[in-house]
Amino acid sequence: KPCCIIVVGMAGSGKTTFMQQLNAHLHRKNTPPYVMNLDPAVYKLPYEANIDIRDTVAYKEVMKQYNLGPNGGIMTSLNLFVTKFDQVLNILEKRAPSVDHILIDTPGQIEIFQWSASGSIICDTLASSWPTCIAYIIDTPRSTSTSTWMSSMLYACSMLYKTKLPLILVYNKCDVQNADFAKEWMVDFEAFQQAIRKDEEDNADGSTSGYMSSLVNSMSLMLEEFYRHLDSVQCSAVTGEGMDDFLEAVNKKVEEYEKEYKPEIERLK
Ligand code: GDP
Ligand code: MG
Repeated sequence: KPCCIIVVGMAGSGKTTFMQQLNAHLHRKNTPPYVMNLDPAVYKLPYEANIDIRDTVAYKEVMKQYNLGPNGGIMTSLNLFVTKFDQVLNILEKRAPSVDHILIDTPGQIEIFQWSASGSIICDTLASSWPTCIAYIIDTPRSTSTSTWMSSMLYACSMLYKTKLPLILVYNKCDVQNADFAKEWMVDFEAFQQAIRKDEEDNADGSTSGYMSSLVNSMSLMLEEFYRHLDSVQCSAVTGEGMDDFLEAVNKKVEEYEKEYKPEIERLK
């Protein structure tokens, strides 16, 4: 019985590269996953997808035909794809017994997946068939300031709140920047406050001063509760470091899904 891993994150955080690395890793372990690409605008995929949104919708044509910009084009393509999701589900159901993982790559811009009806439909449909979790990819080198890191955590929090699915924080690009600082901030409020004060000193122009730092302070207290529900791992989608840690976190999330999420989904059916 497989589990679904929906890979989300900001544009450029490394979702597609992470998919490639995880796919290769699972192939090496002789447990090839079933792979789905939901980004209609990707030019070249570095991995082979079993189901590719680009085979059903031509993103450029959609833009032209409906007179849309890039984001509207991606959104509409995803909507068109979802109208055929019952077919996708049929295929998945046939293949599911022979795989352990179903991996799903999502469009570059996170909000297109998170804030669209089609994104919700995809999450809900998958989660009502199989254990499903969200892998939230974080660009670690770009999250070293307390304010960017906090924004990223708030986004992950809203993702958890909206999808109601178990979530794994994936600190990516650890070949460039180790994520120990962030892991410390998640468990040690004092360390985080110290980092805020340091960022304040470094930004003497006032960009993180005054109300900002008090806001960040109160938010981090709120987030403490949120962190308790998360697993976080660090990895590099380029070197492949951390892939086994990630798979271990997935196993934990599958258990969580069975215990907490599945009864709720059954109840709502
Ligand atoms: P996506 O928009 O989230 O799908 O991001 P991509 O997978 O396309 O990656 C964006 C950029 O980040 C590319 O130039 C990747 O080579 C780079 N990248 C992704 N993962 C890593 C990583 O673990 N380490 C480093 N150094 N670069 C990475
Ligand atoms: Mg991508």
